[in-house]
Amino acid sequence: MHSMTNPLLDFTDLPLFDQIRPAHVAPAVDALLADAETALQTVTAAGFPADWLAISKVLDVSSERFSRAWGAIGHLNAVADTPELRAAYNEAMPRVTAFWTRLGSDERLYAKYKAIDTATLNTEQKQAHRNAVRNFVLGGAELQGAAKERFAAIQERQAELSQKFSENALDATDAFAYYAEAGELEGLPEDVIAAARAGAEADSKPGYKLTLKMPCYLPVMQFAKSSALRETLYRAYVTRASELGDPAFDNSALITEILALREEEAKLLGYRNYGELSVVPKMADTPEQVVKFLRDLGARAKPFGERDLADLRVFASTIGLADPQPWDWTFVGEKLKEARYAFSELEVKQYFPAPKVMAGLFKIVETLFEVSIRRDFAPVWHPTVEFYRIERDGQRVGQFYLDPSARAGKRGGAWMDDVRARWLRPDTGVLQTPVAQLVCNFAEGVDGKPPLLTHDDVTTLFHEFGHGLHHMLTQVNERDVSGISGVEWDAVELPSQFMENFCWEWDVLEHMTAHVDTGEPLPRALFDKMTAAKNFQSGMQTLRQIEFSLFDMLLHTEYQAATAPPGEVMALLGKVRAEVAVMPSPPFSRTPNTFSHIFSGGYAAGYYSYKWAEVLSADAYAAFEETAGASGEPNIETGRKYRQAILEAGGSRSAMESFKAFRGREPQLDALLRHQGMAEPQPA
Ligand SMILES: [Zn+2]
Repeated sequence: MHSMTNPLLDFTDLPLFDQIRPAHVAPAVDALLADAETALQTVTAAGFPADWLAISKVLDVSSERFSRAWGAIGHLNAVADTPELRAAYNEAMPRVTAFWTRLGSDERLYAKYKAIDTATLNTEQKQAHRNAVRNFVLGGAELQGAAKERFAAIQERQAELSQKFSENALDATDAFAYYAEAGELEGLPEDVIAAARAGAEADSKPGYKLTLKMPCYLPVMQFAKSSALRETLYRAYVTRASELGDPAFDNSALITEILALREEEAKLLGYRNYGELSVVPKMADTPEQVVKFLRDLGARAKPFGERDLADLRVFASTIGLADPQPWDWTFVGEKLKEARYAFSELEVKQYFPAPKVMAGLFKIVETLFEVSIRRDFAPVWHPTVEFYRIERDGQRVGQFYLDPSARAGKRGGAWMDDVRARWLRPDTGVLQTPVAQLVCNFAEGVDGKPPLLTHDDVTTLFHEFGHGLHHMLTQVNERDVSGISGVEWDAVELPSQFMENFCWEWDVLEHMTAHVDTGEPLPRALFDKMTAAKNFQSGMQTLRQIEFSLFDMLLHTEYQAATAPPGEVMALLGKVRAEVAVMPSPPFSRTPNTFSHIFSGGYAAGYYSYKWAEVLSADAYAAFEETAGASGEPNIETGRKYRQAILEAGGSRSAMESFKAFRGREPQLDALLRHQGMAEPQPA
């Protein structure tokens, strides 16, 4: 189909979101796939030069068109879903996925990349080239004969096992139901009771159906006054998908097989264990470095966790729970939180009308990063979508769509996505500026008032904008390492979590809030309560995350699949708990059996990344705290340095190099601990 009739094939400038129809999807994918296939054949032909620019001109130009068009389709599928579009999207998906898999494992392409003389490359190209070769190697491109076949078999079996793992976890969760009597429900919120009643009715049962799904399980643990009821659900919850539950859903054997295959995969690629393999494309250098990081943070957090637990024990005895059991802690914690920091989210919301928040966010970004943000025009998919341009010295730096509101046909949650990356195009020699999608799901305003954001909404907006700035403020010209591309994924949350800090800054909030009726800024007393509640039990929560992270890394380094006796996985968790945890765990708890992040979610030997990125972002933000002016205003020099070292550099060098360029040293734990109320002096 000619580009004049298919908007998905028009690459003149921005995507024609207003013209794309489901009928355009299949012909566009066909045309672009054929084009990309031809490009792949061209550059891998024997006579084609092993030259970065020559390959890029053909293959990258073609594959970039493909991903831009497919990105536009995927975007519409996420924000303006219709049955027709979904069908077209799902129909094309397998062909698209298959092409990228083929591209990533093409031996001739790998050979061509390896033959490139890296002395001809600039710094950015060198980094992109290194990443490309590394990804081929980790994909098994260097393996031969039987090893290659075995590697492929392992990949296939792992995919089956992880799919089965998550099905078991889901099915075990879904299979449980407890039909309670009205008398057992005391303390539960009305809406939870109503949903439980409806659930029982749907099953033609008397009473109230309680389940292990979060919207039911969590409120029961938080609010149900009956300790016996909490115990029933708790026992079922922590034994899901284990040998202590329904054997049909037991994940125990899957866990040992997954671990054995990962170990084998790592050894085939020349690593001692899966932990070593996992950190290769990450910011962390070795598993040992990660383990040390986790242990250091754990040691610092432990006294605070112990204090949190002691507080809970004292408070528990005042509400008749002198000897709290595992199913009591959440309930006690909730009661203590209510007693200490009673304030209403509804009250807070009145101070955050969306336009005031947006203006506040733009102001910070403009001041800190020396840009201006202006309204701009582009074809959009819904009339409420806004489009902006970011300028510096009158020059366009980047552009973004902002789709703020929840509506039918739009996926929940919030995210940043790229529309196109900054790229000095090898075909035209023109510098392409980056474009981003910022998508949120805020509630619409009612009674003619503007939308009101919860403080969580505000934090989410800042978070996604941080990702957006990383994508849009980059100064890198090489597509695969510009902006967020090529950034190690244990570092990719640095710029996003960094921005969240501003939402807890009094000097910022004061100017970013205006009561929807009175126009008054957020009262200081309310802000203080919010801050205190934010750090409630942060010691225990930190230790819980460290327990998961350390268990994950040790499981992929110390655990030996070939020689491990039965029960070794739980024994290892027991050791980690003895070292890290303050909260006692009951012997029947089988949390690994539903730890989907590491057994079916891509976080294997990578769960530490959450805490890792938190440390980076907190430490980066501390540079602003250290240099702030007398009334808290951020220092422009620090903003410039952060922008240049972190945001502009993107993936063109390692995240550690970028961090050091900004901070002048390696990351330290102190800022995170301070932000979360775990600063010196430590409690006695
Ligand atoms: Zn994020």
